[in-house]
Amino acid sequence: MKQKSFWSACEMIIGPAAVELEWKQLAGEEYEGAKVFLRPMQELATRYPCMRSYICGCDHRVVIHSEDDIVGVCTCNPQACETFRLTKSDIIIYELDRPMLHRTIVEALSLEPAEVEIPNVRWTTQMGYYSPRLGVRCPVVLTIQTEPADYRSVISVLAARNSEPFIIIAPTVNLLPPDVLEILSLRKSALFTLSDILTMDGSEKIVASPSCNVMLVRFCSRALGGGLLSLNDVFFYSQDFHCVLVNDREFTLTSTQSQVIQILCEAYRNGTPDVGKDYIMEEIGSLCDRRLRDVFCRDQEAFKCLIRPGKKRGTYRLNI
Ligand SMILES: [Zn+2]
Ligand SMILES: [Zn+2]
Repeated sequence: MKQKSFWSACEMIIGPAAVELEWKQLAGEEYEGAKVFLRPMQELATRYPCMRSYICGCDHRVVIHSEDDIVGVCTCNPQACETFRLTKSDIIIYELDRPMLHRTIVEALSLEPAEVEIPNVRWTTQMGYYSPRLGVRCPVVLTIQTEPADYRSVISVLAARNSEPFIIIAPTVNLLPPDVLEILSLRKSALFTLSDILTMDGSEKIVASPSCNVMLVRFCSRALGGGLLSLNDVFFYSQDFHCVLVNDREFTLTSTQSQVIQILCEAYRNGTPDVGKDYIMEEIGSLCDRRLRDVFCRDQEAFKCLIRPGKKRGTYRLNI
């Protein structure tokens, strides 16, 4: 069974709006940290999930006799389980707080906000544009559906509306039909999931994931063919190798450091990733008795993240 998560719950609940018990049951351990994304609605529930240990299989009908006399009545025929008591707070319906979710996404992906409802499709909103450089604006659209067929039709509508690459965000990939991903890749567009963009941190709060940056860079290099170049989709670098992005981390390198990375990148691409230290030192015009790590003297973190020893003694390779 798939692990319970708040974002997968959003694809199981119509609206998504439900009583707290249902959110708790479907979101599992993530509920407490994620409930900031829920807000109470005016209306009260008329149905309530069965709470008996033996679950009768129906949603009980909520009967409000008075403020403090509320019950849930089994609607099975014949009645299969007993009526239980409920409080007013039990039957409050909580819906996904979309404005708050939109703000969080706009911030996590550094979007230019421009909210537009997409006509003719349900639960689908353009939140803004991703603008990696001047003159380029890629629409970013959030959609939350409960059926695979609905995802397919939303993505077809978006593909028809946008001639330029776009980014679509869905809670998870659980309900996405595989052919939909093909449509997106043909259109040089990308699917991001809320479970990738917003994750639980150590203190069980939902925060923007550090991999947002990598997801955007990957989208850029595929869709727009510019910006950073990529080796293997995990290692990204600027044309002059001064800017390198690997495993969610970005490094700005000096000229000598970027020469080292360029040599190692070329070796990697040629299928001979290990390069002798002496060769590197000679190429960058440095003394052979210096260590490679000395080239990264004030930036040992970059050295450790980007480079590791090769198979043979005295050789180095990219750390990918
Ligand atoms: Zn029941
Ligand atoms: Zn029942």
